Amino acid sequence: MSARILVVDDIETNRRLLEARLSAEYFDVVQASSGPECLEKAAETVPDLILLDVMMPGMDGFETCKRLKADPATRHIPVVMVTALDQREDRVKGLEAGADEFLTKPVNDVALFARVRSLLRLKEVLDELRLRQESAFGSEDGEADLDGSATVIVAAGDEQAAERLAAKLPREFAGRPMADPAGVVKAARAGAELVLIDISNAKFDALRVCARLRADTATRNTPIICVVEGDTPQEMVRALDLGVSDVVNRPVDPGELAARLRTQLKRKRYAEQLRDRLEESLEMAVIDPLTGLYNRRYMASRLRQAVDAWEASAERVSVILFDIDHFKRINDSWGHQAGDEVLRAVTARMGKQLRALDIAGRYGGEEFMVLLSGAAGREASEAAERVRAAIAREPFVMVSAGVTVEVTISAGVAEILHGDTPERLIARADAALYQAKAAGRNQVVVAQKKAA
Ligand code: GH3
Ligand code: MG
Ligand code: MG
Repeated sequence: MSARILVVDDIETNRRLLEARLSAEYFDVVQASSGPECLEKAAETVPDLILLDVMMPGMDGFETCKRLKADPATRHIPVVMVTALDQREDRVKGLEAGADEFLTKPVNDVALFARVRSLLRLKEVLDELRLRQESAFGSEDGEADLDGSATVIVAAGDEQAAERLAAKLPREFAGRPMADPAGVVKAARAGAELVLIDISNAKFDALRVCARLRADTATRNTPIICVVEGDTPQEMVRALDLGVSDVVNRPVDPGELAARLRTQLKRKRYAEQLRDRLEESLEMAVIDPLTGLYNRRYMASRLRQAVDAWEASAERVSVILFDIDHFKRINDSWGHQAGDEVLRAVTARMGKQLRALDIAGRYGGEEFMVLLSGAAGREASEAAERVRAAIAREPFVMVSAGVTVEVTISAGVAEILHGDTPERLIARADAALYQAKAAGRNQVVVAQKKAA
């Protein structure tokens, strides 16, 4: 995994040392010697991760971190704070400033690379989600809010240990102490927001439980925090490499635990928001909001596929183009809103006359397209006739204008021919529709069986 890392330290020897070790692992390293320079370089080079020294003259690491996290342009870059001593107050202060991780000097290589890999993996996922969202929306997102309480599964070797650990949770978290691995997996699947596992004293194979949670689609994104023995970096490395979200050293400090839990929960909710909005935007890209039918762009791509399938395997397809008759008059007489209401009502009546297989879309203002795969022109014209009759059968009641309105619809039908392109197929259906209009509207015309 190659990535750019910004190393911030006021002492040149420290920067050089870290650069040498990171470069040896093929990371691209950028340096800064002060807080202000860090902010500048972060905005300019957009690193994937920042290793930030805490003790610096002028703007210290806490302040620098706060500013990085306050700026939307740099907020998403993970920050690892490098402290001189293993000071608990410093850790809590750093986490509260928005730091994602901590390393103590002298920096242990194994710990360094495990943390870096784990944070880069996380960043990759979030970046991907954010990118897709931006390409759909062209907008920058906000921060996830942290409100309401969250259920945390607290797992340890025995019930008492689990209860003791659960007692250290901050008040906004509801802990569920557990001591059996199957129960932990089951409860997590049922929807806990976070899993806290003491892997240092577990009688069961706690790392296996972590691996199972990561492998299961229902719990893949559930944050896991592991409690590890402070003097065994191998355990921490194994946990992080398995995809655990964070680790905290024993004995567990409640202040530090609270800050780490909050960071994880914030991240989880943020990722969920991105995923939700992504789903929404994917839907928006293909659905017409007024009628709920597929939009023109989607219909065009389905038509393209249908023409390809016809060429590849002679899979037949027919097209119907519908156009509401004198729709302008409805708008003119009853207003645009009433017109919209008619569009929705026509959509509903049309849907009842089509097969589940048929793909219906809104092709223009008051034009609809239906793709009937496997259908010959005759079957398509029968379907079109059913729709036409259903629309003309009884007037539409428009609640907003308090009136009933007679609506009719015309249709042009075309079946695919050899050598057709989507454009030619549509042109034939359109010509047939034009004939239907010219012949007095409220009727269906099937295109001639020759290429236009
Ligand atoms: P024809 O029988 O020849 O099709 O006559 P028409 O009046 O239906 O055809 P024309 O294409 O002249 O007018 C279509 C009208 O549809 C014009 C436009 O204002 C209206 N329209 C297009 N989209 C919408 C919409 O989303 N809502 C509403 N209310 N009206 C729309
Ligand atoms: Mg019309
Ligand atoms: Mg029209």
